[in-house]
Amino acid sequence: MKVLVINSGSSSIKYQLINMENESVLAKGLVERIGIEGSRLEQEVAGEEFEIEEEIADHEVGMELVINTLTDDDKGVISDVDEINAVGHRVVHGGEYFDSSVIVDEDVKEKIKESSNLAPLHNPANLMGVEVCEELIPEAPQVVTFDTAFHQSIPEQAYMYALPYEYYEDYSVRRYGFHGTSHKFVAQRTAEEMGEDIEDLKIITCHLGNGASVAAVKNGKSYDTSMGLTPLEGLMMGTRCGDLDPAAVPFIMEKEDLSPQEMDEVMNNKSGFLGVSGISSDTRDIEEAAEEGNERAQLALDMFAYRVRKYIGSYAAAMNGVDAVVFTAGIGENAIAMREDICADLDYLGIEIDEDKNDVRGETQEISSDGAEVKVFTIPTNEELVIARDTKELVAE
Ligand code: AMP
Repeated sequence: MKVLVINSGSSSIKYQLINMENESVLAKGLVERIGIEGSRLEQEVAGEEFEIEEEIADHEVGMELVINTLTDDDKGVISDVDEINAVGHRVVHGGEYFDSSVIVDEDVKEKIKESSNLAPLHNPANLMGVEVCEELIPEAPQVVTFDTAFHQSIPEQAYMYALPYEYYEDYSVRRYGFHGTSHKFVAQRTAEEMGEDIEDLKIITCHLGNGASVAAVKNGKSYDTSMGLTPLEGLMMGTRCGDLDPAAVPFIMEKEDLSPQEMDEVMNNKSGFLGVSGISSDTRDIEEAAEEGNERAQLALDMFAYRVRKYIGSYAAAMNGVDAVVFTAGIGENAIAMREDICADLDYLGIEIDEDKNDVRGETQEISSDGAEVKVFTIPTNEELVIARDTKELVAE
């Protein structure tokens, strides 16, 4: 069975064609700058990359190009579109409707649309990907996997905000959490690495990328997570501010004469590593600047490590213990010094990492010190594989 995994954004389509017999990636690629000058497709097959630059007016043209490239006599990996047995889509927000992946029907599409007010930049673009595939690959069933679904198990006491209750009833204002497929995948992999049943474990999963969140996974279920109604809450991120006193928002709006949209832009795109350091949203640039003595760069790194450490401590308290901590995504998988800083003062919890074992990038490895009570791992995330597995399972039913 071959599953096409699609992540459709407002001006891009990321895709992977996965052979589910052995879970190997036959081709992966990206269409970007849809509807803008300089649109292009790049595809990688067996380590070889190539790109096509041409005008891509909309998502339908983009998806047609993806299919033509996958079935190309020369560069393709399948001979006919019929070889795609199912399509799995990433959808950001499933609101309170979805606690697992589902096969697409009219009702599902309506609910994705209804949840769009909670993710106005993402859900409409995700849905567009579904609709274009329905048209262009009509024989293949479509499945949607939600970033929020894994976190639907979070108990009420953790997902409610202490605002007037009507805002929850009237506007669905509550914690939803994101990166669910990633937290689920690395938690499962952690249990496998430990040779234990996930049902018996308390795991803290740290998805630290340009967007970053921490989750408490208790007995295989999400118990709490740091992102909230939107991905802005929680950790400091590449350009997002994360947790702050909500009263700072109207205060700054008044001082700077900002509209709600402008303030949103500041908190989502001008804050975090970029805002504090004034240099970049990328930790590699910040690490380089800090090494050269830039104090604000060092401050940004210290703030990030401190905040991740605080979440680990609070989730250990929330779950009444922790058996394993796992680091994933760009920073979690690659930033050796950052992992060391985060774990530096957590020995009271039994978290200690080994300097030699921690000298690893982009691999699955246990990095905790011999004899440490809590196992610490780095595990590369693979959200596409989760989507493909869910798709295969649902289609087979
Ligand atoms: P992601 O969103 O998961 O793709 O993560 C992207 C982020 O990972 C980048 O913005 C960098 O901050 C970070 N990153 C990637 N590689 C490294 C590295 N070798 N060292 C430090 N940070 C890295």
